[in-house]
Amino acid sequence: MLATLIYRSRLTHALDPSLLAELVKEANIRNAELQVTGVLLFNGDQFLQVLEGPAEGVNAIFNRISRDSRHSDIVELLRDFAPERRFRGRGLVLFDLRQNKPGVALRTILKFGTLKYHLARHDRVYKFIRDFIATPASERRVETFSAARWRLQSKASPFAAIGLPLQENQPCQFAFQPIVDPGRGTISSLEALIRGPDGGSPQDYFASIPEQKLHEADLASKGWALAMARQLGIGNHKVAVNLLPMSLVKIPGAVDILLGHITRNHLDPEQVIVEVTEDEVISSYDEFTSAIRQLRAAGIGLAIDDFGSGFAGLSLLAKFQPDKLKIDRSIVTDIHMHGPKQAIVKAIVACCAEMQITVVAEGVEKIEEWCWLNAAGIERFQGYLFARPVLNGVPAVNWPLRVSR
Ligand code: C2E
Ligand code: MN
Ligand code: MN
Repeated sequence: MLATLIYRSRLTHALDPSLLAELVKEANIRNAELQVTGVLLFNGDQFLQVLEGPAEGVNAIFNRISRDSRHSDIVELLRDFAPERRFRGRGLVLFDLRQNKPGVALRTILKFGTLKYHLARHDRVYKFIRDFIATPASERRVETFSAARWRLQSKASPFAAIGLPLQENQPCQFAFQPIVDPGRGTISSLEALIRGPDGGSPQDYFASIPEQKLHEADLASKGWALAMARQLGIGNHKVAVNLLPMSLVKIPGAVDILLGHITRNHLDPEQVIVEVTEDEVISSYDEFTSAIRQLRAAGIGLAIDDFGSGFAGLSLLAKFQPDKLKIDRSIVTDIHMHGPKQAIVKAIVACCAEMQITVVAEGVEKIEEWCWLNAAGIERFQGYLFARPVLNGVPAVNWPLRVSR
């Protein structure tokens, strides 16, 4: 199968652009061996490269480029399959856009294309090329997100010591993970993540419960989560708990039960956020809607969890505008290197700004991911980069500090 890949990158500052021909010569030999063809556009600062050929060859070349110190800020823009090559028999052709007017450059490149794609103005590859040529280097703002500019400084949590003793008859435990606002240096909330009596994962814990008791156990566990939050001395901080949507529907008086747990632990309903996903099919929307209304009327916050994972989708967002929307880790991972993920997150950010919904990015593990997301307008983060969940306690937070030069 014929694979197509487009990426954009920058020429490392240290490299003299006059050495570009050298780079292309090398690439041509390697690409020919792997039967990869394509074009390389250079605008004086950035590259746009189209690679096409057998998938293994294309991947091998892209992996190599990703490690090549002459390229920086590599962002994958397109990965697709095609019935035929767009640049058949051409090896790698370099177009230095500084030497041509945009219109001339585009026409020249199109002449290199195969006839079919030459005419295909709706072709995504064509459109990427056209867009790259049309936007001068000076108008393309490319931000460099270098991890080397940051270091992490660990600061102990302001909460009670970790390792709360287990109560008698306690069926489950909780690990707490901070959600942080590094710009302000504040912990905005703590998420309570369920663990089995032996410390096992949520999956293991729920698997150990008979199916007909699942929702009851889920709701009841929130009593333990909130009791722990109180013992940790969360003060004015917020605590987020996860609930299966149907736990709010199937258990009669679920919201009142939750409110009971809140008041019993001397917490304010406004300090509590319920996170839901569409992980489980919401079978009765009317009852779910009524539960959400009760939650909101009591002052309890609502967050849509795992947004973009395929479960918590746009329909949930259209039906219930939450206070918070948490972008799933699958979208966050390597966002600084992935054009499609970037486009999706920009749209989510714009959409939430319009609806006055706070966006949280989940599963942030790399400085570069955080930097990219922050530049896109996200202020709240959760992930191993900042803190891993800690059983029966709250971990220290790693705060990013700019390295002074
Ligand atoms: P979630 O609510 O999206 O919670 C985030 C999960 O991602 C947690 O896994 C957390 O440990 C993990 N995580 C956080 N940061 C990172 C990171 O940087 N990298 C990676 N790889 N993972 C990260 P955990 O604790 O295993 O929970 C899994 C899921 O179980 C939760 O996902 C939530 O959907 C569910 N869950 C947890 N507690 C409860 C509960 O009390 N009730 C219900 N119904 N579901 C729960
Ligand atoms: Mn959650
Ligand atoms: Mn999540």
